[in-house]
Amino acid sequence: MSEIWNHFKSKKEDIFCNNCDSTFKVPKDGSTGKLWNHLKSSHGVVYKLTSRGKNDKVIVKRKIDANQNIQTRDRTVTVNRR
Ligand SMILES: [Zn+2]
Repeated sequence: MSEIWNHFKSKKEDIFCNNCDSTFKVPKDGSTGKLWNHLKSSHGVVYKLTSRGKNDKVIVKRKIDANQNIQTRDRTVTVNRR
């Protein structure tokens, strides 16, 4: 069983993130790439504790990029809501 399942729970056709309220559909091809992407982009700290994240040296740079994107996105969202 993949290490990813330490951070997600599957129930019938849905997959639940242990770290937030996100739900995913069980992929038909059984790939866990989407779940890894979620862990990486939303829970970088948790991701870094996995064997995959530990070996991912690009994470630091990507994390900075992601934060900048999120900030830009949040600002946009706020403007739209107002
Ligand atoms: Zn999550």
